[in-house]
Amino acid sequence: MSELINVAEIFGENVFNDSVMQERLPKKTYKKLKEVIEEGKELDLETADVVAHEMKEWAIEKGATHYTHWFQPLTGVTAEKHDSFITAPMPNGKVLMSFSGKELIKGEPDASSFPSGGLRATFEARGYTAWDCTSPAFVRQDAAGATLCIPTAFCSYTGEALDQKTPLLRSMEAINEQSLRLLRLFGNTTSKKVTPSVGPEQEYFIVDREKYLQRKDLIFTGRTLFGAMPPKGQEMDDHYFGAIRERIAAYMKDVNEELWKLGVSAKTQHNEVAPAQHELAPIYAEANVAVDHNQLVMETLKKVAGRHGLQCLLHEKPFAGVNGSGKHNNWSITTDDGINLLELGKTPHENIQFLLVLTCILKAVDKHASLLRASAADVGNDHRLGANEAPPAILSVYLGEQLEDVLSQLISTGEATHSLTGKKLETGVKTLPDFMKDATDRNRTSPFAFTGNKFEFRMVGSKDSIAQPNIVLNTIVAEAFSEACDVLEKADDFDLAVHDLIKEYATEHQRIVFNGNGYSDEWVAEAERRGLPNIKSMVDAIPAYIAEENVAAFEKFHVFTKTELESRVEIEYETYAKTINIEAKSMIDIVGKQIIPAVIKYTTALATSVNAVKVACDADVSTQVELLNETSDLLTDVKTALAKLVDVTEKGGAMEEGKDQAVFYRDEVKTAMDALREPVDKLEMIVDKEMWPMPSYGDLIFEV
Ligand code: ADP
Ligand code: MG
Repeated sequence: MSELINVAEIFGENVFNDSVMQERLPKKTYKKLKEVIEEGKELDLETADVVAHEMKEWAIEKGATHYTHWFQPLTGVTAEKHDSFITAPMPNGKVLMSFSGKELIKGEPDASSFPSGGLRATFEARGYTAWDCTSPAFVRQDAAGATLCIPTAFCSYTGEALDQKTPLLRSMEAINEQSLRLLRLFGNTTSKKVTPSVGPEQEYFIVDREKYLQRKDLIFTGRTLFGAMPPKGQEMDDHYFGAIRERIAAYMKDVNEELWKLGVSAKTQHNEVAPAQHELAPIYAEANVAVDHNQLVMETLKKVAGRHGLQCLLHEKPFAGVNGSGKHNNWSITTDDGINLLELGKTPHENIQFLLVLTCILKAVDKHASLLRASAADVGNDHRLGANEAPPAILSVYLGEQLEDVLSQLISTGEATHSLTGKKLETGVKTLPDFMKDATDRNRTSPFAFTGNKFEFRMVGSKDSIAQPNIVLNTIVAEAFSEACDVLEKADDFDLAVHDLIKEYATEHQRIVFNGNGYSDEWVAEAERRGLPNIKSMVDAIPAYIAEENVAAFEKFHVFTKTELESRVEIEYETYAKTINIEAKSMIDIVGKQIIPAVIKYTTALATSVNAVKVACDADVSTQVELLNETSDLLTDVKTALAKLVDVTEKGGAMEEGKDQAVFYRDEVKTAMDALREPVDKLEMIVDKEMWPMPSYGDLIFEV
């Protein structure tokens, strides 16, 4: 019980949330700010000044000396520039702590130090951060002291988005408007706002920090570039398991407490899939807040690990041959008065609305499958998607048996007249009263699964921001809603028109629905027959951003301009090439400085002992000699592969940035890396463990 009381007490204690605002702001200011937050009204400077002052006073009470505009440039992580509250010294030598409305709403970091993908060349280098009052400010306490963090959007001088938040907020507007249009058609006159809700389940690995520090590959690249698989069976070892639980439990408790203080409603779980792998799921929140919170979750997981002598690995594939990490992006759309559009309602009328929403989503996912795939593309995620691992690279939607049956009836007869449970409803649309119970997720292989009252997009990488997938989801669903509304608003007979539209969408887009095993080879062949894209790598996924139908959707809802999309494409290619380049260089460094010397040391010792044995007792040393030969051969392979990797990495580095370079890094450099890894991993199995220059997979994964 005391735990629970504690949680309630600390939850949100470092957040400038609604109750703090209500308590501290003058009534008039509070009301004005709420109008800005909830109704998107404009913020006047007078209100901003009052809010800023109170925010500062509150933050100083929490120990804050600095404030920062906290934003998400296109690096995948957050950025911040700290300023202290201190004003210039007064004549009496004292300083004041001040924070104005201007400083709250606008910042000016140097935009040229962040990726802009060419926007910089055409526009000015100036960049602005703008306060996002829909995501609450918070005080972060760490070794640097306490800092007031203000979530902000980051734009160029001419208003182009240089971050993740700006397009996300734009996409939330789009889905809000189009959902309201759709709801009005169904007679809803009361809902004022529709918001996408997001609950991301975060997977991560935990390893011992001492061991981590002995692995340059983990330090430089976040993943192991070498490593032979540990002998099977170790994972069954109860001793190790017991040890993991205790140390990790203390860590998780700490993580939870930190997150609760920041208002992130974390609930941790032990993940059994891979040893040393775990999962943290928060309670879902508005998309914008959920994206910010997920960044805080990732930061906190890493920060707190250090305190426990642990290291958190957020990379999608830290260990080859061991389950990778993803993020399950749970997504739904809800009105301000609590109606979830993805919830099957109680009345037939609402069921029709649900079926329209559902078929619109099918249409959106089918039409923009490549774009959704691109939104989850990431260098690390290439090791999961399309690498015969969960989930597959092919986008498909899992609906569950009963719902798929409803659709197939609609398609074949134009009417759903019966349900699997035998119930017939007035409208003639077959619905499933116990559908909620049965349609919950049973298919873990689906990349896009309906799980009762939400969709779960499972392709997202563990390290990536969830902004991009949600921007895409919001936009493509807004587009489908808007197209449906265009038809329905003109219809003479609404009921008939809805019915026809549902049938049309279900028929045209049924190919995207797949309830079977997404990992099977049969599905790959079947998907190809259906004409569904199977995009295996990030480099191949990137062009979807500038495909005609996708640009049209983004531009229609003012989420991205074509220029912004082109700049993002450029950044993605650059990111890909740079990441592989770092991996290749790390490999070259590790092999040259650590692996080869270790192998030479081992062969020298082996040769010396073979000679000694032979001289001393003239015994049969053929086995030892064989081992020596095998090791020498592998060493030769290593040297050849190393020379090749050095060569292609140099070539790649000399190329002009862009698509060709990215393709070269994937086809030439990555291939050369794989070729180098092979003999090294074989050598690890031969060379004396004492001489091997880094902890093994077994050491890292099982001995936490
Ligand atoms: P499962 O175990 O099937 O994945 P959970 O109920 O544990 O599902 O939820 C997983 C995540 O989905 C959590 O982060 C949760 O907050 C989130 N979630 C639950 N309901 C919704 C919803 N309606 N919209 C968005 N996210 C949701
Ligand atoms: Mg899940």
